[in-house]
Amino acid sequence: MSTEANYQELFALQHELQLLGSIESILEWDQRCYIPSQAHEYRSDQASYIALMRHQKGTAKRIGELLDGLTAAGMGASLEPRDVNVREWKRDYEKRCKLPEDLVSEMTKTTSFAQSVWGEARARNDFAAFQPWLEKIVALKRREADCLGWEAEPYDALLDQYEPGAKTAEVAKVLGDLRERLVPLVKRIAGSSKRPDTSVLRRNFPPDQQEEFGKAVATAIGYDFTRGRVDETTHPFCITLGPKDVRITTRYIPDHVNGALFGTLHESGHALYEQNLPAEHAGTPMADAVSLGIHESQSRLWENIVGRGLPFWQKWFPSAKDHFSELRNVSLEDFVFAINAVEPTFIRVEADETTYNLHILLRFELERALMNGDLKPADVPGAWNEKFKKYFGLDVPSDAQGCLQDIHWSAGLLGYFPTYSIGNLNAAQFYEKAVVDIGEQEDNFRNGVYAPMLDWLVKNIHSHGRRYKSADLTKHVTGKPLSSDALMRYLEKKASYWYGV
Ligand SMILES: [Zn+2]
Repeated sequence: MSTEANYQELFALQHELQLLGSIESILEWDQRCYIPSQAHEYRSDQASYIALMRHQKGTAKRIGELLDGLTAAGMGASLEPRDVNVREWKRDYEKRCKLPEDLVSEMTKTTSFAQSVWGEARARNDFAAFQPWLEKIVALKRREADCLGWEAEPYDALLDQYEPGAKTAEVAKVLGDLRERLVPLVKRIAGSSKRPDTSVLRRNFPPDQQEEFGKAVATAIGYDFTRGRVDETTHPFCITLGPKDVRITTRYIPDHVNGALFGTLHESGHALYEQNLPAEHAGTPMADAVSLGIHESQSRLWENIVGRGLPFWQKWFPSAKDHFSELRNVSLEDFVFAINAVEPTFIRVEADETTYNLHILLRFELERALMNGDLKPADVPGAWNEKFKKYFGLDVPSDAQGCLQDIHWSAGLLGYFPTYSIGNLNAAQFYEKAVVDIGEQEDNFRNGVYAPMLDWLVKNIHSHGRRYKSADLTKHVTGKPLSSDALMRYLEKKASYWYGV
């Protein structure tokens, strides 16, 4: 058979996987947004049935034969779309085939039970109850890493699932460097006599007004509601159900405006990436996102760099005052200072953009030690609290506010945390380069004009799909490897403006 016929056959098989994956996503979206409380059990049967079907079809021998044939014919070697597709399909296929079915099902069973144990353990501040499950999960993850294969350290195999091509040692270097610069900056800010009044964010903000305002902002930055929608959930997320169906969720807290405001902006940033992947390559890796870290760079860019900036609010604050009467006696400067408050706190998801990365660092260091066997699950609380004191200067009052706060480990998501910081670092580095390429954007933001920014992101990032690995994309776009420089320049400039330090 000709290479062309083989490629078409492979495309058809991959299309089936894509369809099954998007059906799984619809089931998941409904389960997280609307499902009646008693319907979960049957839904989980439906979801595992489709997942099993996808796994079986995805590991079919025929896919391997076609990939081998196409690779032997020289495909997969260049950065042309079809070559990229073959290369990435091969990567996905090999990963799927490396994981034995008994490990996959053991992991699913363990993590689904561990999540409910974790929920109770956190509520009762009882690490001992969670500890045996953490031990089990760490052991399973080490087995998973061995199956996937690694060279330098097992954590590489886990990280690679979320950030393809990333190496633990390289990420550790960039994050370690960031830590050395962040800890003193946070201290300097803590020593400033300037303090924002964050109580202005905790007034009465009617949810229907929050919804209307959030939708107006999302539309303005480019989110296309004819190919998406916004619903309400406790934990906001963005999910793609098909090439023309990218949905987001947000939350409306009546006495705290941040949740909806920045939740919507953040998820819209993710959605802009998904909505602007090249439509002509739909159904192939050329129309997929690169990695979680690059995805997060898009959400953080819109949420923080654009959405927490003074120019953005010069445009939107008058409209915010129209929507929320309790903001009418608040000045623009006081409001923007409040949304840029920097304060060490115990909970990651409530952290500001400066201290946030320290939360990630701490988790990354512990995960790496767990996977290397340098840290025993039993010693996690002690190690957590010691690092917290070092980085934040605070004594952790309870494990519930410490090592038990996140769902990730109980869900088996080791290797995931660093992608949040990779996102923050990339957001700043991309933005600096955009300004070099298309000029300072502050006047545009002041006027509510976002198209030049979005067009730059589409051209430089979205349009490539999975053509480049995360680290290569950063280098290709910005001309430099990922470093802490751009993010530190950005955070220091803000600290100097608001806190005078
Ligand atoms: Zn995100």
